[in-house]
Formats: sequence, structure tokens, C-alpha cells
Amino acid sequence: MKITAVKSHVLGCDMPEELGYSQQYYARRSAHLVEVTTDEGVTGWGECFGPGTIALANKGIVEKVIAPMVLGADPIDRDVLWHKVYNLMRDHGQKGMPLQALSGVDIALWDIAGKVAGLPIHKLIGGAHRTRVPVYGYGMMLKRESVADHVARFADEAAAIKGMGFAATKMKLGLGAKEDVKLAAAVRRGVGDKFDFMADANHCYTTSDAFYVGRALDELDAYWFEEPVAPEDLDGYRELRAGLRVNISGGEAEFNRWGWRAILENRGLDIAQPEVCALGGISEYLRVLALCHAHHTPVINHVWGSAIAVATNLQLLAAMPPLPGGLFPREPMLEFDTTENIFRDQLLAEPLDIQRQVAASGGFVSIPDGPGIGVEPDRAFIERYSVAE
Ligand code: CA
Repeated sequence: MKITAVKSHVLGCDMPEELGYSQQYYARRSAHLVEVTTDEGVTGWGECFGPGTIALANKGIVEKVIAPMVLGADPIDRDVLWHKVYNLMRDHGQKGMPLQALSGVDIALWDIAGKVAGLPIHKLIGGAHRTRVPVYGYGMMLKRESVADHVARFADEAAAIKGMGFAATKMKLGLGAKEDVKLAAAVRRGVGDKFDFMADANHCYTTSDAFYVGRALDELDAYWFEEPVAPEDLDGYRELRAGLRVNISGGEAEFNRWGWRAILENRGLDIAQPEVCALGGISEYLRVLALCHAHHTPVINHVWGSAIAVATNLQLLAAMPPLPGGLFPREPMLEFDTTENIFRDQLLAEPLDIQRQVAASGGFVSIPDGPGIGVEPDRAFIERYSVAE
């Protein structure tokens, strides 16, 4: 079997309303799908992390840099191809966009391997430790409105997400340390005392501001405090983890086994959040997962993007071994964006319909058991929303 084409599809559309996180407001939704075709009629799909103009630049890396390195090769040799591509790109970027681009290609090769074997990816990895996973719903995004309006809206939205059946919820931080403490208190009021909530700073704090907010999150019994400081600030992570009770999480902006080795050896994370569509694809995710577990650090995948990314993560969450194991372990959860996203909800010929599954099951989604990633995108939908050729 030979790879005959590697193509990127960058999708884009206007959102019904502008949303924000600590770094920016945004009003466009995007997704970057990778399609790998073969001479035997089997097609694989993958996804690259990165919105908007980042996706367009990554498309160039996928089609102009990586494609010529893999055309004509056997797609089943995904680890051989991973190392060929990484070794040839190493001098030009060991993190960031080259790895995001490689991720989408690698995921597509795993999809092909599953389709050839007639098995879902979780079976190729070693089997399902669980047939369904709890889902946490995030929302509570920033908007161009007053602090008081944020406070009122966050309390209402937190209660609404709990009411939809999600197993836990996650809010954004980013108005400033003092204001953010008010937002977190509003979320705790909204969900009541016994429901898990998490807070995501998207690395907007200095270490001292992160301590100020983190102490409030300790008081509010938040489950985790995500990306409190810049991903480069390994010392800040370590100090926060040693000084706060709330779990410190992060890692979505880290890449490959070597980047992850540095974070884990630094002992700054209670919960690791690897992003499979960025760090190097499934091949590298499995190595990062093993590294995390070697450091006894639990993993709850970072999930962003279209239904392809969601389905890929469901395969990985099914195949994740329990850490450390037990009768009633803390299970990994699927991260799910509760704001409108047509690339997640309308991309597939047969939608995953996660919101309905969550409402019907008390917070769970089942693992797709079709071959490969277990889902197929609708080509007419892709053509309708493609923004670049
Ligand atoms: Ca995040």
C-alpha cells in the first residue's frame, strides 16, 4: 500500500457571537483536517491544532513540507514516517507549528491502519479500559461586558452546564486576578457545593497573581487550576504546585516527548493535558502518555477542534490505562466545548451527538467502535466551509 496524496482542508465560518479567553476575543470558528489517500482506496483523516491564519500556515507545512517526504511510502509504517519527518524538520522547529502539522498527518495514518485492520484505534493500541467516558463541559467564556455582567452570567451558565448533565464544568479566567476571584466564586455558587469545577487562565498570570487566584480556588474547592502561568515558566509551575492545594494542570502548549520530559521532571503538574493534534499525533501521544504515567502524573487530554479531534480523543481515552488503578478510580474525562461549534456538531455523516448522549446517560459518551478513529466526515460539508485551496 502506498500514500498517493496528503491534503489539508482548512474550514472556517463566522460564529454567532464573539467569545474570548485571557489572550484574545475571536469571532471566527475554524478547523484544519488532513486527508491522506492511498493507492488501495483507503482514506485516513486527521486534524491539526491551530485556528485561523495558524491553520493556513500549517496547511503549507502539511502539503509543501511533509507531503513530499511521505508520498509513495507505506502508510502503515507510521512510526517510521514520524521519525523521518521529525528528523528532517528538527533543525527548523522542534515545537509549535511543524509538530501541529505532523500531528494531523500521523492521526490520518492511524485512521488508515485501523481501517486496514478493520479495528478501532483503541484496539490497535491495546484495547478499551472503559467503554464510555465522563464528559466535562466548558463554557463561561469572556465577553466585552462589565465584571458585574460576567459574574451574573458565569453563575447562570455554570448552573446551565450542570443542568445539561455534564460531569463537571470549566470556566475561563482573565479579567485580572481580583476580578477573576469574583468569577470563580460565582461559578461555585452556580453549581453548588458538590459539583466539580475547574478554572482555565490560558497562562495570563504572573506567579504572584496566580498564587492570589489559586488561594481563592483552594477555598472554593476547585478541581484544577489550568495553565496559571506561561508554559515556559517551569519554575512558576513547580512553586504553584508546591504552594497550593488545588490541582495544577497544563501542557496543551507543549510538544513531543522531549518537551514533556522537561515539564514532568520539573514536578510542576498534578494533571497533564497533552494535545494529540499538536504534540505530534497519536504515535507521539502514546510516548508522552507513558512518560506521564512513569512520573505517576494522571492525564486528562486537552481537546479542541472538530469532530475528528473529538473522535480521536475518544479512542485515546478508551485506551488509557488506569493510574494508579483501584475499585473507584478518578476516570479521565473528555473535554467538551459547550459553545456552538458546527465543525464538531455537523461535520460527520453520522454525528456523535455528544450533548444528547450526556443528557441521556448522566454525563457520559460512548467510544466509537468503527474502524480507525471510528467516524467519517461529510465531504459536501467540508467543501461548503473550505476557506483555502
Ligand atoms: Ca486550556
